[in-house]
Amino acid sequence: MRQHNLAAVLEIVHKSRGVTRAQITRELELNRSTIGDLVSQLSESGWVVELWDETRTGVGRPSPLVTAANQWLVAAINPEVDAVEIALASLGGEIVDRKRVEVDQPTASEVASIVANEVSAMEESQTGSKVIAAGIAVPGLVRTSDGVVRLAPGLGWKDQPLAELVSEALGVPALAANDAHLGSRAELSFGAGQGADSIIYLNGGPSGIGGGIVIAGNPVGGFAGYAGEVGHISVNPEGEVCACGATGCLESIVRRADLVARLGLSHPDDDQLDAAVLNAVGQADGKELRSWVDQQLTWLSIALRSVVNLLNPERVVLGGYLASIWKGASEAQRTKALDQALSVSAEGVEITVAALESQRLLVGAAELAWDDVMANPIESLKSVT
Ligand SMILES: [Zn+2]
Repeated sequence: MRQHNLAAVLEIVHKSRGVTRAQITRELELNRSTIGDLVSQLSESGWVVELWDETRTGVGRPSPLVTAANQWLVAAINPEVDAVEIALASLGGEIVDRKRVEVDQPTASEVASIVANEVSAMEESQTGSKVIAAGIAVPGLVRTSDGVVRLAPGLGWKDQPLAELVSEALGVPALAANDAHLGSRAELSFGAGQGADSIIYLNGGPSGIGGGIVIAGNPVGGFAGYAGEVGHISVNPEGEVCACGATGCLESIVRRADLVARLGLSHPDDDQLDAAVLNAVGQADGKELRSWVDQQLTWLSIALRSVVNLLNPERVVLGGYLASIWKGASEAQRTKALDQALSVSAEGVEITVAALESQRLLVGAAELAWDDVMANPIESLKSVT
């Protein structure tokens, strides 16, 4: 019971990014001294800090603000075909440090050794903090029970025990999941999905397009956890052969590499790509690019129509280069995006871009890393040396 209550308090602090003790008391419907006691234990074990607002005056006893401490951190990792992104995150979905290591088509073992080097260097610069778990956002199909990457066509991986390799390299527990699933989690908790209970998140990354589905508050994994492969919806039966072997998949037609090439960039991260797209479509001579971006949105809209007809989400959130295409497209093209969907299914559906921008997958990977340690906030520290 006590572990459960400690976890519940920690969860509130994590999601709210700072909350008063009085608010926690109200939310959990426990008495004030119990909450005071739980918060003290979390504070003593380095999870939270209590701040008294000295400036507050007025009637009644002030209630301290409870916020996340920075003592315990997690490593968040996103391997891709062109780079490995690594971050340290604190509770509350805050990225405290971040690094991008450019590498071509890394193997799973290479990812683990890059992660080991970078995390120990980053950890050293965070005085008084310690990494206690790791989460990995993978552009592919992941068996979440053991973190084996079953298939990542972009990376050329099949049945790679990525979580185990990273866990051994870092000496902490590691979990892995599909990148778009984690992106949807991050956007729901801290980004463009906040307040909605049915969202479809579409992630556009260097190795393709993934989807994370949440309906009525529940993540939709499907029979074995591999649901959401929006990138492999057929949008043109006469189109190119996709990396998956099928013909005319969305991700074989709306490709990050094409956008990068059109802009004449080499190895841009998401922030650089986004800025370049917005700059280029705004130029007087950007007409050709503008119409190409509009055409890309037309292809994306064909997939969105199926997604909206099938799932009737409240919001569609676009991340990565799909967000850049959305922002770079003309107002006229954006307005038409759901014209071909059933009018009733599309009623009230809002299409928006990931609010966490280029942090979205790292924040999602951190969410995954926190799962087990936050469920047992005191027990999980016993193995930490
Ligand atoms: Zn495909």
